[in-house]
Amino acid sequence: MPYSYDDQNIFAKILRGEIPNKTVLETDHSLAFHDIQPQAPVHVLVIPKGPYVCYDHFAQEASDAEILDYTRAIGEVCRMTGVEDGGFRMIANAGEAAIQEVPHLHVHILAGRPLGRMLQ
Ligand code: IMP
Repeated sequence: MPYSYDDQNIFAKILRGEIPNKTVLETDHSLAFHDIQPQAPVHVLVIPKGPYVCYDHFAQEASDAEILDYTRAIGEVCRMTGVEDGGFRMIANAGEAAIQEVPHLHVHILAGRPLGRMLQ
């Protein structure tokens, strides 16, 4: 499926420095920052800097360097936020069914409270 990227989405604006963010980590190809409406004591979003709508788009079109960087950045945020001790949840919503609000690939990392059972 061909994806088209809307460069007016809020994370594109964050990447261009047009709106502020609370950065947790920045690497060559990735940026991690605190969610503006945290759903847990730790709620960090990790995004690739490239223009990818969702994980499928990223996996198809990103370079090996971007994929490696993004994967490592997600892992580093898990460590930096100290979430390894109590456990954490990673979520990546894609498209309408998952109610993806911002059409730029992002992984949510949630931790710091009991997160309940998600899949039954
Ligand atoms: P989605 O529903 O998976 O697309 O999640 C989008 C997330 O982006 C939500 O958790 C929002 O709270 C978050 N968000 C929206 N705008 C901003 C912002 O300007 N800074 C940080 N997080 C944001």
